[in-house]
Amino acid sequence: MDLVFQKGKKDEEQRDRSLLGEKLYPYKAVMCRNCGRIQVTRGEEMFRCRNCGKVCRYRKYGKWNVKLKDFPTFEEAMMEAKRWAMEESKNNSDSYLMKE
Ligand SMILES: [Zn+2]
Repeated sequence: MDLVFQKGKKDEEQRDRSLLGEKLYPYKAVMCRNCGRIQVTRGEEMFRCRNCGKVCRYRKYGKWNVKLKDFPTFEEAMMEAKRWAMEESKNNSDSYLMKE
């Protein structure tokens, strides 16, 4: 049981490391650091929040600066953003999803 868990964790760390060095897929589900809104963006290195207008860089000093999941298509990114927003809204009465 422990071994299986550790293997999964290691795979996740490796994925994070490779993402830091490589180009991301064009569509990203991101969470604004300032207001917490989840939205889909095509920004390559940063995005401007559609809710509060704050610009957040994805990476700072070689580390992740915002929560982000990248996808090759808009549909996949949007599905993840919806799922993510629902997950977040379980702990909060406000919807986190930013509508188009
Ligand atoms: Zn924001």
